[in-house]
Parts: sequence; C-alpha cells; structure tokens
Amino acid sequence: MAEKERTARKAIAATARMKSLMADHFLSLKKAKEEGNPKVAWCTSVGPAELLHAMGFLVYYPENHGALLGATRQATDCIPVANAIGYSPDICSYLTSDVGAYLKGQTPLTKAYGLETIPKADVLVYNTNQCRDVQDWFAFYAREWKVPLVGVHTHRQIKKVEQYHIDDLTAQMKTTIPTLEQVSGNKFDIDRLREVVGLSLECTKLWRKVLKFGAAKPAPLTFFDATIHMAPAVVLRGLPEAVDYYKLLIDEMQERVDNKVSAIGGERHRIYWDGMPIWGKLRELSDQFASLKTNVVASTYCNSWIFDAFDPNAPFESMARAYTELFIVRDESYKEGYMDAWIKDFSCDGAIFHDARTCPNNSNDRYGMPQRMTERLGIPTLVINGDLNDLRCYSEEQAKTNIEAFVEQLDQRR
Ligand code: SF4
Repeated sequence: MAEKERTARKAIAATARMKSLMADHFLSLKKAKEEGNPKVAWCTSVGPAELLHAMGFLVYYPENHGALLGATRQATDCIPVANAIGYSPDICSYLTSDVGAYLKGQTPLTKAYGLETIPKADVLVYNTNQCRDVQDWFAFYAREWKVPLVGVHTHRQIKKVEQYHIDDLTAQMKTTIPTLEQVSGNKFDIDRLREVVGLSLECTKLWRKVLKFGAAKPAPLTFFDATIHMAPAVVLRGLPEAVDYYKLLIDEMQERVDNKVSAIGGERHRIYWDGMPIWGKLRELSDQFASLKTNVVASTYCNSWIFDAFDPNAPFESMARAYTELFIVRDESYKEGYMDAWIKDFSCDGAIFHDARTCPNNSNDRYGMPQRMTERLGIPTLVINGDLNDLRCYSEEQAKTNIEAFVEQLDQRR
C-alpha cells in the first residue's frame, strides 16, 4: 500500500464530473435505441462529427469502444474471434477486438453503464484520414445490419495542405448529406452546422490549453491523465458539455501550476510519447514512470484532437482543413518539425516511440525517425514494441527493463 501511494500519480478531482458525462452519453444512446429516436450515427474518431450532430444524430465512436475493450483487457479474448472469420491478427486491433466482442455478444458498456449491447448504428460514417481500416471496420457492420455506409477519403502523406485537398474533401462531405437526411428524417441546416462547428472550436481550444499545462515545470498532469481526460474531446466535441468540462479541468490544472504541484511528485525527467497508448497497461506504465520520477508530459496521440482550423463562418471548408491538417495525415518531414516543436516547448529530455504492431499509421519509428531525432535534437530515444489492444504483441518485462535503462541514460546526462 505504501509503495502504491508513493508511486501513483496525483488524482484529478474533475474525473468524477467526466465519468458522469460519459455515463450520460452512453445512457442517451441506450435510450435512443429503445425509443427509436433520435437516430444513431457511428463516426470514426476524426470523422465529420459536426455534420452528424447538426443533422440531429446521436454520435457513437467505435474507437472509443475499442479503447475500452483494451483498457478492460477484454480485447485479448475477443481478437481471436474476429481472426476466426478472416480478419487478420495483423490489422487494427481496435477493429478485431470490436468485431470479436460483437460476435461474442459482450461489451464493457454493460458493466460500466448497463447497456446490454453496443448501440446499433442507423448509419455509419467514416473518414479514411487516419487509415483504411476504419472503412473496412464499418463495412462489417453495414453488411451485418444492412444500414447505409458513407464516408470521405482524405489525401494522405501530405507535406503541405493545398486548396485542392480542401475542395475535394468539402465536396465529398456534401455528397453524404442526402443519405444523412434520409436516415435522420431532418433537413440539413447550415446555421445549425455553424453552431456545432463553433462548439467544436471552443472545445478544441480548451483541450489544447489543458495539454499545454504539461509544459509547466513541474507538469501538473501526465500523458496517462490526458489519455483519460481526452474522452470528452473525442466523444462530446460539438456539444456544450465538453466545453463546460474543460473549463472545470483547466481551473484545476491552473491551481496546480500556481502551487507548483507535480502530477507525479519530484519530477526529474520529462518525456515525449509518440504513438498509441497501450490501453491494457496504462496503470502499470504510469506507476513505473512515476516511481522513476519521470513524467511523460506530451504526446502526439492526445494532440490528435486539437483542430485549430474550425471556423463557424466556413463550416465545411474548415472541417475539411481541420481533418486534413492532422499529424497522422502528414508526411515524415512535417511530422518531424511538429514533434521537434513540442519537444522543445515542453523541455523534454527524451522521446519514446511506441511501435504498435497492428497500427502502422500511428507507429512513426519505422522509417528512421527516432535516429534522426537524436541526431537533430541531441536527445535519447527509445522504441517500445507493443500494441494498442493486442497484449500478445507486448512483452511487459522487456518494456520495463528498457524503460529503466532509458531513464538511467537520462540520469547520466544530467
Ligand atoms: S489509426 Fe490505427 S488504431 Fe486507429 S483505427 Fe486505424 S489502424 Fe486502428
């Protein structure tokens, strides 16, 4: 017990409010399915959620469900069930754990919120800006439930975002409107879309502010806190609840900064994390870093829900820009510049790259980036092999030893 108290990170009081918001979100989906109204749209995590809210849908994010399956360690039992119907163990383990859980008839939403099943989609809407897997994932459910599947295809590996990227995506988004009108029974209203984009903009600005607190010394929060507190930015953006929540969290973080409160106590080193979280091992990793007095203060992953470009005056174009400017959509040279800036702003002593076996899209170590980073910035880097959900790809002992050795390396450089 004494050890646990010594190594755990400091609890965030706003968490209670966040949990109740998440409960309300899932219970409203449950009610909508029971009553048949409003209709439910499934959306990829960086898909055109604003359009769906504006059309009157309740929006459900399967990647959030994938993360829950990982965090509750149900994923490992579910993945083989999807493998058995032909979904390879090498593709996205959110997809395979989610499809496997569906086939097994289980969901962590039952224990957490009393939902017997995931909320069935009335329409499925994807954006391939992050990967092709989301389209194939949604196609499974479209076949299963015989519901419409629509989506947009974003240009990828982009160095500079060009006007033709924006024009193309804008046109694609508009082509989804007739299907969305038909399923929702509502007419598209541009003023309602402006309102929702305005709320998403507010949410994104506040979420950026939360993450920027990580630059304070000592940092009042960790990457592990951010993976939890990003939930409203992911599933409630476009709604006033997310805006109110981040105001509350910002007050708490500001108070910590004013009083020089460290999230881990006795912060000695500061690390940048690139790549996906290892959902089933968040607690263990958080405890290990805290015990080493090392704070993971910034990450690419949690920044993925910062959408600076939203503009209520140009809702479609700004959504197209926001969803194209994302880190995951960009080429290596852009990514390097982006990470360098965050590492410098957050005074990081080193960077860890998580190579997630089933997500090449979020594994940035595969083309020499860590080595080039060390040459450019003069900081040590470490690659951890693992996965977002498939713990069969993760050797905990090896990762622990490598992290310890990495922090010793940082110690020697002090
Ligand atoms: S980006 Fe990676 S984790 Fe996310 S849906 Fe695609 S393959 Fe899965």
